[in-house]
Amino acid sequence: MNISCSPQGFQTPHSAEEVPFYLPVGNECALFEAAYRHRLPLLLKGPTGCGKTRFVAHMAAQLGRPLFTVSCHDDLTAADLTGRYLLKGGETVWVDGPLTRAIREGGICYLDEIVEARKDVTVVLHPLTDDRRILPLERTGETLKAPEGFMLVVSYNPGYQNILKSLKPSTRQRFVALSFDFPPPEVEVEIVASESGLPRERCIPLINLANGLRGLKGVDLEEVVSTRLLVYCAILMGEGLDPFQAAQVALVEPLCDETEVKEGLLELIRATY
Ligand code: ADP
Repeated sequence: MNISCSPQGFQTPHSAEEVPFYLPVGNECALFEAAYRHRLPLLLKGPTGCGKTRFVAHMAAQLGRPLFTVSCHDDLTAADLTGRYLLKGGETVWVDGPLTRAIREGGICYLDEIVEARKDVTVVLHPLTDDRRILPLERTGETLKAPEGFMLVVSYNPGYQNILKSLKPSTRQRFVALSFDFPPPEVEVEIVASESGLPRERCIPLINLANGLRGLKGVDLEEVVSTRLLVYCAILMGEGLDPFQAAQVALVEPLCDETEVKEGLLELIRATY
């Protein structure tokens, strides 16, 4: 698997000048900074689309560290993170994976949805997440010592948990952990307005609707409307799309397939738009 052009979300480092917009919900920025200063690995828990990735991007830029983001999936192995020998122009050369690069460059490595990755990934993470802060690279014979600037951040969505896919307690307890959830309405209005450009007064009914949808009892949905989907919806509304249709394509169709469940959600949307 070729990391640099794979769909694993491996990104080029952020430059410190551009700090991605992030509106804090509590004191998570101070907590992140404290963890960074004391070289503590950080675990972010929370539903998809609630701002975890944006938070890490914001903090990395604030702290002036390059960020290496990896979206984990069930084929992701330790070698995808550490690196491998590849054939280049007839020669075999070692190519660092994103974790190794983050260590060499003193950056922040963010492993999104860590529980999706293969089990051998945790073996690599253990010596990095205690006071040794080392990464042994068996294939090259090196043992890298993480510099001060290196920080490991991982995330997972507790809503997806099952017995086969969960973080082992011996791995979890190596991290300090922050719980995320969808922002309170007054914060979410500001986020959606800022991200979409839709006027604030038009975002207010949308956020109220979202909270109504999130609170619907007896509706069988794996996931609820995320802040990300609200931003999409507001963008479509800002484009002049009929609000009902915008809500249908951004808030209903991405979340469910069953006609009856969709009807339940659409009924609530009709009451607003
Ligand atoms: P997650 O990583 O939790 O799945 P993201 O960080 O990708 O979610 O958030 C999805 C989108 O929601 C972001 O791209 C951004 O537009 C918006 N968002 C969510 N929370 C915030 C926040 N606190 N400040 C700014 N934007 C936010």
